Order: sequence, then structure tokens, then C-alpha cells
Amino acid sequence: MFLQVENLEKNYGTTKVLRGMNFSIQEHESLAIVGSSGSGKSTLLYTIGALERPDKGRILIDGAELSKYSDEKLARFRNQFIGFVFQFHFLLPSMNCMDNILLPAKIGKHDLKKVKVRVHRFAKELGIEHCLKKYPFEISGGEQQRVNIIRAISLAPKLILCDEPTGNLDSKNTQVVIKLLRDVAEDIGSTLIVVTHDSSVSESFHRKITIEDGQIIS
Ligand code: ADP
Ligand code: MG
Repeated sequence: MFLQVENLEKNYGTTKVLRGMNFSIQEHESLAIVGSSGSGKSTLLYTIGALERPDKGRILIDGAELSKYSDEKLARFRNQFIGFVFQFHFLLPSMNCMDNILLPAKIGKHDLKKVKVRVHRFAKELGIEHCLKKYPFEISGGEQQRVNIIRAISLAPKLILCDEPTGNLDSKNTQVVIKLLRDVAEDIGSTLIVVTHDSSVSESFHRKITIEDGQIIS
């Protein structure tokens, strides 16, 4: 198994947000996570991506238990192996979109030339090449979302985690984005996990889990 979630519990103060979750995913599989607002989808994704530590239980990625890593080792692991698409896209306002996209590559000291070639290809596929030299405030919410997606996949991560990646997009662009994510995941051989409200999105994944009140109900 590439990813194993075992008896996972996560609390914020006295609020029990994840109440004992178990599931696993094989390499190359794609998984949709659905559930109503407040059910714990984002918290689950953040915990899988090691942006939050579990209170109980554990998460294994490729056999490694990330919660045992030091902060520094974790940061390096995340940079190299995980691409995260945030629900509220966190682009830095003082940098143009290309520089935003290249930030993880610079931090991880990757080959910028190579990454740039990949970025241009993705930008073309998503129809936002004209945005690369612009600043985030100069482009629309939907365009920002696609910039955010390109940043997440720019380093060909083994695990791609997306929190409502099509939340601001019309149905045409939703399909384009989902297809790109699926194609990229297939190309790289990465595992793709997407949180979504949109049933037209969840249908195109290998597997789907529904969570309610911090538990998997199906
Ligand atoms: P979803 O993504 O399914 O809408 P979330 O994972 O964002 O749900 O939130 C699940 C529950 O956890 C909600 O009740 C929310 O208020 C609470 N929660 C999420 N993040 C925090 C936080 N950082 N501090 C306190 N409570 C939080
Ligand atoms: Mg959420």
C-alpha cells in the first residue's frame, strides 16, 4: 500500500474532528473524498499531507510514518514528495505567478530550467500562459486556482493532494483541470487525492470515500 491511514484521530481543542479513520490507497490510484461542509475533509487532507500532526493513530506514506519526522525532515519530505493544492490559494501577492509557481523549486534547489519547461506546458494546457508574468491580483479567481494547481504539480510529486481544486471554476474548466490532474498523476505515476463537493468530479476517480462528522460512512 502506498498510503495507509490507521485509526486516525484529530482534535482541535475539545472538538473531535477526525474520529478514527481507516483506509488505504495503492500507488497510481486516484481517490475522491466527499462530504458535507464541516465534516473534516480539509483536516483529513492536511493531516495526510503532514501539515497537521495526528492526535491518535498513524499515517504511513510509502512505509514511512511522517509524524515521527522532525519539522525539518518533514519540510524536506513535503517539498519533494507532496504537491498540495489549497482551497484558498495562498499565492504571494508580491510575486508574479511564475515566481509563485517556482517557489517550491527554488526552496528545494531543483533544476529551474527543467521545471520552467514543465510549467509552460501545464499553463498552456490550462489556458493560463498569459497569466504567468502577471501578479495574482491582476488575474481572476479561477486563473489563480489554476496557477495554484500548477505550483502543486510543478515538481512531479508522488502524492498530489487537492482541496476543492475546482471550487472557483466553471464546468468546462473543471473538466480541463480534472483531466490535467489525472493525466499528470498518470504520467508521473503519482497518487491523487481530491476533496470535492462536485459529483461530476468524483465520478472520474478510481475510488470515492464519503465522510460525515469525522468518520467514513461509505
Ligand atoms: P470540511 O473541509 O469538510 O468543510 P474542516 O476539516 O475544514 O471541514 O473542518 C472540520 C471541523 O473542524 C469544523 O467543525 C471546523 O470548524 C473545525 N476546524 C477546522 N480547522 C480548525 C482549526 N484550525 N481550529 C479549530 N477548529 C477547526
Ligand atoms: Mg474544507
